[in-house]
Amino acid sequence: MQTQDINTQNNPKIPAKDSNFLEQNPHLNSLANNPSFDSQNPPNPELIDACVHCGFCLSTCPSYRVIGKEMDSPRGRIYAMDAINKGEVALNQTTSEHFDTCLGCLACVTTCPSGVKYDKLIAATRPQVERNIPRSLPDKLIRNLIFNLFPYPKRLRPLLIPLLVYQKLGFPKLIRATKLLEKISPRLAAMESILPKITVDAFQDNYPTIIPAQGEKRYRVGLILGCVQRIFFSPVNMATIRVLTANGCEVVIPQSQGCCAALPEHQGQTKQAHTMAKQMIDSFANTGVDAVIINAAGCGHTLKEYGNILQDDSEYCDKAKEFSSQVKDVQEFLANVGLIAKLSPLVEDEELNIVYQDACHLLHGQKISLEPRKLLQQIPGVKLREPIDAALCCGSAGIYNMLQPEVAEELGQQKVENLLNTGAELIASANPGCSLQIKKHLELQGKKITLMHPIELLDYSIRGVKLERK
Ligand code: SF4
Ligand code: SF4
Repeated sequence: MQTQDINTQNNPKIPAKDSNFLEQNPHLNSLANNPSFDSQNPPNPELIDACVHCGFCLSTCPSYRVIGKEMDSPRGRIYAMDAINKGEVALNQTTSEHFDTCLGCLACVTTCPSGVKYDKLIAATRPQVERNIPRSLPDKLIRNLIFNLFPYPKRLRPLLIPLLVYQKLGFPKLIRATKLLEKISPRLAAMESILPKITVDAFQDNYPTIIPAQGEKRYRVGLILGCVQRIFFSPVNMATIRVLTANGCEVVIPQSQGCCAALPEHQGQTKQAHTMAKQMIDSFANTGVDAVIINAAGCGHTLKEYGNILQDDSEYCDKAKEFSSQVKDVQEFLANVGLIAKLSPLVEDEELNIVYQDACHLLHGQKISLEPRKLLQQIPGVKLREPIDAALCCGSAGIYNMLQPEVAEELGQQKVENLLNTGAELIASANPGCSLQIKKHLELQGKKITLMHPIELLDYSIRGVKLERK
């Protein structure tokens, strides 16, 4: 792929505000009078009209930074949505590819001075693409594999033993060194390359329904375990439970909960997303919790969007709004209610330099950036370092690194360099997807540096567990 320097802040390809979009993109112009969006919730023209084409969002857009084309920027995509709405260009393979290159990181929403709701626009566009644009066979196969496997822990769990054997026999090294899988399918290779190490924790999944608070009960909270998180990041879930109970929370874990719907929702799989969202709402009905806690950034953003996702469902729209209003990221919750558990240093010699990596769906999606930093700084001896381009996506973006591996590679490599350049000894990351992407690129760059969820660091600090310096 032809890429431009990711650090380039200048955007030579930004057209003037009044430039003719079709003249600039003749490959789209030739497609005039072809099919438009269908009538099922197309991107709202009023939201599109809010864009004044100023281009401020371009330098913060990761797909534009890597690909370097206007059509792969927020402004270009908004132009395209408008032109498709008006029947000036077609919704077809060519235009849909530019929507597919969007990471959904929402950096453009944070940056836009005009308050353009690009999140709503792309959320309306993705299902249009899924409904109206046939995917190639390899694309269809990999998407089907992802959508039918990842959101279902019961389907993932039987794969743990074969994956463990695969790892124990050293196949990952061989596959990656020979680039065998990459030659067959770059997307499968990308999926393999972020496979986490299978540990004994992955096999344990016997969460009780209610876990009492330690000491006096302050709150009763529900906990969402996640799907991939539940299998591959169970130590994060266990740490979350311990930190919550140590801080006076009774934790309720409804056994009927499933996937939060983030994965299908981000990819325009409306039907699957609605089913999962409703199941999640039903799981927490009548639990009487003060808050529903989530420790994964991408899931948290989707859970808070249930009101919008189910807005046209007469039975669930009110329940969805109420449910979303209860959802809190664990760091957001703890920072707001305050820690009461005593914290101790994480290393013997007391000072530890940590870099906190902002997950897009916390930073841009939920506007949460101060809370995790505030919590980490309460741990004695912790010094926080800030990376450059902290607000730029790491390239994980849900399943983006599997579907668009080339763009994701560039972003992952740059993110890791920026994190390492802070000189921090440890990376704190609050999203499973980001953690896998960063670990992969740390390994590719030959760096051994610990990466943990902020809640695991709080857990260690509360329990007096010391970290070993690498
Ligand atoms: S989305 Fe916002 S920042 Fe980007 S071009 Fe439109 S108005 Fe400007
Ligand atoms: S969501 Fe992210 S990748 Fe998509 S247009 Fe906005 S900034 Fe670019």
